[in-house]
Amino acid sequence: MSIWHIRHFAPSIIRSNKKIRYSLFEGTFLLAVLRRKCYNIHEQKFEVRRVKERVILHCDLDNFFASVECVFEPKLKDVPMAVCGSESDRHGVVLAKNQLAKKYGIKTAETVWQAKKKCPDLVTVPPHMDEYRKFSKRAVEIYLKYTDMVEQFSIDECWLDVTGSQLLFGTPEEIAQKIQNDMKNQLGLTVSIGISFNKYFAKFASDVNKPDGYFSVYADEFKEKMENRPIEELMGVGTTTRQKLQSMGIYKIGELYDAPQELLKRLLGKHGAELWKCVHGLDESPVRHYSEHQRPKSVGRSKTLHEDTRDIAQLKSILACLCDDISASLRAEGLYASTVQIQLKDNLFKVSQYQKKLLKPTRIANELFCVGTELLCEDGRIKNPIRLIGITAGALTDDNMGYQLSFTADEQGDENKENLDSKVDCLRAKYGKSIIKRASQIK
Ligand SMILES: [Mg+2]
Repeated sequence: MSIWHIRHFAPSIIRSNKKIRYSLFEGTFLLAVLRRKCYNIHEQKFEVRRVKERVILHCDLDNFFASVECVFEPKLKDVPMAVCGSESDRHGVVLAKNQLAKKYGIKTAETVWQAKKKCPDLVTVPPHMDEYRKFSKRAVEIYLKYTDMVEQFSIDECWLDVTGSQLLFGTPEEIAQKIQNDMKNQLGLTVSIGISFNKYFAKFASDVNKPDGYFSVYADEFKEKMENRPIEELMGVGTTTRQKLQSMGIYKIGELYDAPQELLKRLLGKHGAELWKCVHGLDESPVRHYSEHQRPKSVGRSKTLHEDTRDIAQLKSILACLCDDISASLRAEGLYASTVQIQLKDNLFKVSQYQKKLLKPTRIANELFCVGTELLCEDGRIKNPIRLIGITAGALTDDNMGYQLSFTADEQGDENKENLDSKVDCLRAKYGKSIIKRASQIK
């Protein structure tokens, strides 16, 4: 049995026997277990075939918002164009750009002012989110022709498990080409597709041949195809992680692959261990079935202010509004928050985040607001005028029972507050959001 077998069959064995999961990669026990299990592999043909042939596609619609705008106004294809938030609302950043604008070095999330400095002739278009949602839904309908295992990652990205679709539709490359043709013919959009044996590498691969291309990273070639690419091309390597890795001399994916797991753990904590696992091709996460409801991990809202301010009363009033929204979403999802985090962006664009763990999970608007206010009002939190304020309910759970109650807990009071919030939801659903407001928001 070769190392290749260990690396690529081990995940399935680990999955099929959780008890040995933790001891597998630690020492000599590994080989003994694997030898015994490999004997079983011959009997469990289905399991082996499934793992060997697991084929995941990551489909990423190219320049999505800008491409949809070009469908409605084809002339925009011939000029550098960007979809930008409104400058008067101070959301004036680039949300998407077409290929021509890309050539000028225009980047997503930079301000319109910066973008126009790079390309004075840039045509800016306001976003039409409803249209983007419609196109996103139609793209998913195309994917569903090829498999029902479609998991949406964002408005323009999906994972598809096409393992069981190959007898019907051909090789993974043929399926990718068919999807690309359908997308062009039916929606007028192009899509870049990554093909691999897990979600993590498929996501990486979809970025390699953009736009309108596909790229595969199979189990026996992932190291050679990826080792010379920069680490920032990997999912989960943002600016902070990249800087930390680079401080240890890790610039390329191959160097990350060779780094000891312990080092990454020490450097990045839990995230480091996860990264090590993913880079070694051990991401086993399944692609969820389309019908499976995808529960949010957190619910957050933020607001960019019309003018930067240090006025606590004004910030609290906005926070109250955001908490009402979050509370309604949590009720709609049947979830409770165990943590509350606030985000502040000041006039120098410095972002700060403060978080608190709750004694008992909640979705009561007023409780979220009280914790948010507490985090906001702590000394030294507002040094410069604030440009944006946000609040996020995290560590969501579908159950708020079985938690230790505080001495001041008031169960009946909580129920009343929840009932009140639900009544407000009903009123707003029927008559619109402005039918009922907090006293602090009435001018
Ligand atoms: Mg995209």
